[in-house]
Amino acid sequence: MTAPIARDWDAIVIGSGMTGGWAAMELTRLGLRTLVLEGGRPLVAERDAREHVAPFEMPFRGLNDRRAIGERQPVQQRSVSFDEISRRYWVDDVDHPYSTPEGARRFDWFRARQMGGKSTVWGRQVYRMSDLDFEANLHDGIGVDWPIRYADLAPWYDHVERFIGVSGQAEQLAQLPDGQFLPPMSLNCVEQHVRDRIAARYGRERVLTIGRVAVLTVPHNGRGACHYCGPCERGCTTRSYFSSVNATLPVAQATGRMTLRPFSVVRSLVLDRRRRRVRGVHVIDAETGEEHAFTARVVFLCASALESARLLLNSASPQFPDGLANGSDQVGRNVMDHIKWGGATGRVDGFDDRRVIGARPNGIYVPRFRNVADRHPDFTRGYGFQGGAGRGGWEAAARAPGLGAAFKQQLTRLGPWSMTFNGYGEMLPRESNRATVHPTLRDRWGIPSLHVEAAWSANELAIHRDMGVTASELLEAAGAHDIRVHTHGPSTPGNANHEMGTARMGRDPRTSVLNRWNQAWEVPNLFVTDGACMASSGSQNPSLTYMALTARAVAHAAGELRRGRL
Ligand SMILES: Cc1cc2nc3c(=O)[nH]c(=O)nc-3n(C[C@H](O)[C@H](O)[C@H](O)COP(=O)(O)OP(=O)(O)OC[C@H]3O[C@@H](n4cnc5c(N)ncnc54)[C@H](O)[C@@H]3O)c2cc1C
Ligand code: SF4
Repeated sequence: MTAPIARDWDAIVIGSGMTGGWAAMELTRLGLRTLVLEGGRPLVAERDAREHVAPFEMPFRGLNDRRAIGERQPVQQRSVSFDEISRRYWVDDVDHPYSTPEGARRFDWFRARQMGGKSTVWGRQVYRMSDLDFEANLHDGIGVDWPIRYADLAPWYDHVERFIGVSGQAEQLAQLPDGQFLPPMSLNCVEQHVRDRIAARYGRERVLTIGRVAVLTVPHNGRGACHYCGPCERGCTTRSYFSSVNATLPVAQATGRMTLRPFSVVRSLVLDRRRRRVRGVHVIDAETGEEHAFTARVVFLCASALESARLLLNSASPQFPDGLANGSDQVGRNVMDHIKWGGATGRVDGFDDRRVIGARPNGIYVPRFRNVADRHPDFTRGYGFQGGAGRGGWEAAARAPGLGAAFKQQLTRLGPWSMTFNGYGEMLPRESNRATVHPTLRDRWGIPSLHVEAAWSANELAIHRDMGVTASELLEAAGAHDIRVHTHGPSTPGNANHEMGTARMGRDPRTSVLNRWNQAWEVPNLFVTDGACMASSGSQNPSLTYMALTARAVAHAAGELRRGRL
């Protein structure tokens, strides 16, 4: 039974992850009393971070409790940053089931259900989208046209970057706009060599730069500079990388206007039928199972792209029989991710007297160069490369057969340098890539789960093939040898961790869910600002764009509230 409504709020934010943290900070800074509902447990950087735990201090020496993981986290363990320590940040797949077809339409759905969401485990790579991306759908006649252009978002990118702290190198490339950068991290000697050789061969067409990363290279906004310890996905005691736990939520808390309620699983949004506004939300206490209801004047849905779609679909009513704000039938459709696992690795000689010191939490980036100045015959859009250069260490030798003193001696020597390029390619929006409410499957709290289906199209597969070709070209230009094209791809949709598109922005309420302010066309006091809003995926890591859109949407919502329009 639902308990009586305790209190009215100016704003409710659902989710305290990357976008929820931004919504909470901006709403409270603008003077709004804000309730943040987080389905998972609380997290405190200084108490919960485990980045300095050594393998010999771990019960399974870093190799994980494979039996427990096989039973409880068979999906989550496929994520790149899942390990014996960081597994605590991932959901239990038994409590949080979903269904997906086996084989070609399988989808990897990675979820972090605690304060901070996936911002605790993310890779921190942050890149702006450009008008090459915002105009792409219109240009190609694919999906719907973005209702905004780069100029609309540029000041918000500035705003977000100034706050989160982004280390990076300006490169003056139209397809990857520069930002408000802290000092860049350094390329190592081989990466510098490869950058120079690529520049000599390709000029400004193909550029290797240091990754743009939300990790502090100098103290910034009260947070400490990174000390290059490495395993950021286990948390960061010095709050040196951006996450909502490290940065936005503390600011929201300090305003005195935020109430953050952990263990509050939102089951559905409640519609005020007469006013066609969201009145509030129904919440289940994750620990006790008790039900509560909360009301507010405006609601920000920031639960992550698929969870937000799930909430809208689970909030059907007589006015919206197919799900809240879903008159367009676009909620749950156009699921996108990035295609990866294309690329190549090669050996680079001549630097065997050099080694890296410290574990730089960053790699290199080669911004998209396909379909920028010319047109590729096999595919539209493109991809960027991430990766880096390093020397094999004792771990590689440990897997080799051997015995005795000579073998042990061998383990102390570093291996050769190798350079790797891993592609991240754009996925086109397609309505058939879709999440729907499962007819019978329920999560631990009895909330209907999702069925998710997504497959790569011929365009993505052509992009994936091309990654191997151009990565080899880059390595050849760098004078690498033993070049091996990666053959274990393509990745499964979802595996790049960049779920998006399930409640897209657009210019027409008949074909999109949200307008240019991330505001539901049909329910004006509802804003969806996580990756659900994306009309196309670009090839860049997307979270910077979600954060900028969130800050922009909050400014708009606050203005509309002041004007009495919500
Ligand atoms: C391993 C990994 C590496 C990544 N690397 C990068 C990268 O380098 N660059 C990049 O741009 N992006 C990266 N990402 C993606 C990035 O983490 C996400 O884009 C981002 O966190 C999404 O923000 P969000 O607010 O939509 O969701 P989240 O950050 O996941 O937050 C959602 C929050 O909502 C809560 N929630 C969900 N449902 C409910 C409910 N019903 N009731 C209450 N609360 C709910 C969750 O508990 C969670 O706290 C990476 C992700 C992973 C997993
Ligand atoms: S490498 Fe830097 S950002 Fe990552 S956990 Fe260590 S100090 Fe924090």
